[in-house]
Amino acid sequence: MYNAKAYSASGAASPLASAKIARRDPADHDVQIEILFCGICHSDLHQVRNEWSGVMPTVYPCVPGHEIVGRVTRVGSAVAKFKPGDLGAVGCLVDSDRTCPNCQAGLEQFCPNMILTYNSPDKHLGGVTYGGYSDSIVVDERFVLRVPPSLDLAGTAPLLCAGITTYSPLRHWGVTKGKKAGVVGLGGLGHMGVKLAHALGAHVVVFTTSPGKKEDALRLGADEVVVSRDANQMRKHVGSFDFILDAVSAEHDVSAYIQLLGRDGNMTLVGAPEKPFPVAAFSLIFGRRSLSGSPIGGLPETQEMLDFCAAHNVTADVEVIPIQKVNEAYERLLRSDVKYRFSIDMASLRDTRP
Ligand code: NAP
Ligand code: ZN
Repeated sequence: MYNAKAYSASGAASPLASAKIARRDPADHDVQIEILFCGICHSDLHQVRNEWSGVMPTVYPCVPGHEIVGRVTRVGSAVAKFKPGDLGAVGCLVDSDRTCPNCQAGLEQFCPNMILTYNSPDKHLGGVTYGGYSDSIVVDERFVLRVPPSLDLAGTAPLLCAGITTYSPLRHWGVTKGKKAGVVGLGGLGHMGVKLAHALGAHVVVFTTSPGKKEDALRLGADEVVVSRDANQMRKHVGSFDFILDAVSAEHDVSAYIQLLGRDGNMTLVGAPEKPFPVAAFSLIFGRRSLSGSPIGGLPETQEMLDFCAAHNVTADVEVIPIQKVNEAYERLLRSDVKYRFSIDMASLRDTRP
């Protein structure tokens, strides 16, 4: 066991602050990673503030962060995939039972015993797992991804959650050339949804509440942009979509988007607002439309997504910040003021006194 530097929250109303945490020494199958960049996901904010208390109550202290890229510093004796000096990445999962049908199919995100990167039981040290707002992490090699060398590291970190969470449903629902795909909410997930749907060849329409994001949306790969608070603009698209990805972090009118789907169209929620919202039955009944959800992605698909991003030269648009600005970044997330993902330069943590 050794001490690592981290930023942690001691309660739902507390800001994140500098702390020391225990990490295990690498066992036979473990990889120790010096964290270089960690993205800030809106899920970090939901979890730190215990906004998902009904489903995943937060255990404090909480060290968030599940968009991790770094440099391998040590490996256990049985590790074959990595050696010291290699790049490595860790997303939302650090373990699973490896035996259930989901794990056997490479769909670890559905394993009933999956271990999330933070706020899950830690079978090695007790307590809960601690995430990537830290200078290092130790993870079983099976849950460490390879980073294609051509990718910019600060912009690659967000692929580990925002990238895979949007890539997986886009692939599952067959978004490709000839399909019309909508993306609701141009934040961290949304902007990756736009880039990936565009790279997959679809006609992409962005729905945003922020008229000031229109030019960016087009630059990121959208073919059309709709300001969703303008009913006239919304009406033009009724019944026309094959697929809509909803990446909104707060309460909003989901039925307004469902009616934009064509026959057998699907809308998938990846956004996870704190409170439940109503759905108009007739918006689904007419057109035999469906509404689904989708969580992150399994390990094989996450590696596939990273390789797809390297082949299509896709990374997140990031604002790189020092860890000392993390609390300010959370407030900006709540104002939809992020272009389009914060990526923490973890050198800022290493340079601080313990
Ligand atoms: P984010 O960067 O804060 O983006 C959220 C976007 O939603 C905002 O930029 C804004 O886009 C829109 N929005 C915010 N408040 C709104 C409101 N009141 N009404 C309508 N639109 C609003 O968040 P993120 O990191 O992309 O995460 C988005 C959601 O996905 C979060 O709930 C997060 O927890 C969840 N998530 C789920 C998974 C999963 O596995 N399913 C994985 C990661 C994250 P505009 O300015 O364009 O309107
Ligand atoms: Zn996330």
